[in-house]
Amino acid sequence: AKNAGKNGYRFYEASMQETLIHKLNMERSLRAAVSNEEFLLYFQPIVYLETGLVSGFEALLRWNNPQQGLVAPGEFIPLVEESGLIVPIGKWVMRAACAFARKLTNMAYADTYVAVNVSVKQLASEDFVPMVRAALHEAAVPPTMLELEITETILMNSECLTTNIAKLKELKDMGVRIALDDFGTGYSSLTYLKQLPIDVVKIDKAFVDDLTEGGKNGPLMGSIIALAHNLGLKVVAEGVETEEQRKLLREWQCDSIQGYLISRPVPEAEVLKVCMKSKDS
Ligand code: C2E
Ligand code: CA
Ligand code: CA
Ligand code: CA
Repeated sequence: AKNAGKNGYRFYEASMQETLIHKLNMERSLRAAVSNEEFLLYFQPIVYLETGLVSGFEALLRWNNPQQGLVAPGEFIPLVEESGLIVPIGKWVMRAACAFARKLTNMAYADTYVAVNVSVKQLASEDFVPMVRAALHEAAVPPTMLELEITETILMNSECLTTNIAKLKELKDMGVRIALDDFGTGYSSLTYLKQLPIDVVKIDKAFVDDLTEGGKNGPLMGSIIALAHNLGLKVVAEGVETEEQRKLLREWQCDSIQGYLISRPVPEAEVLKVCMKSKDS
């Protein structure tokens, strides 16, 4: 069997029937996982490049499967989307992320935000906006503490593009921050950025890696950041692993970074310790 690596997808040399059975079993386990409360969130800090202070935290879903242990989203999100389970699971994520945001306000981190990944299927579901509103209300969290991350390719390819954009606009008008995730991997057209109701652009790890792997994208990175700034957007670089990348991103005037250099995603109990550390460094 070949392991495709970074996205965690594995292609087994199995017969189609075995694959189907595996899928059905997994779907059944995932269905049960919602009611058995087997999901949890990990958090990864996002820090300002200039000060090293925490600007926010990205919430990343984990599945604590009784047989397999901790499973990363790459292994189950595609199936979760295909089966429609993304709606109940996504709602659980939103509520858990808001509960975490509530704790932050109690810990003098009220000026930070929690970023939640939203799949387009979820965004397209009828009660998405009321669901977000209810989650914020229930946790008594101001909308400004929530960021929604949407992948550009998925958004642009979706059937209900106009409705989805209207929903994002409604949330943005409430004060929720909207981030365009994985930027640079899809359309990479900067001109349409203006037309989207976004506040933040998250530059994909692949693009960041290229900076130090002999790539010639430095100036391109610089112009992307400058253009985003001209449009009034903030820029976060993802997957920053080395000091050299941090240095280059600072030269290109990127606003914030996220990546193993600062911290891996960690359980809630550990995340505040990490924040203290990053303040000192
Ligand atoms: P993403 O939104 O692009 O999240 C960033 C991914 O990069 C995370 O993987 C994170 O652990 C990883 N990462 C962060 N810094 C580094 C680094 O320095 N080096 C490397 N190699 N990796 C880094 P993770 O947690 O496995 O999540 C994978 C994807 O699953 C996410 O990609 C997101 O698209 C999706 N996902 C995660 N949680 C949720 C969720 O609650 N809902 C939805 N719909 N999708 C989710
Ligand atoms: Ca994300
Ligand atoms: Ca991303
Ligand atoms: Ca990604």
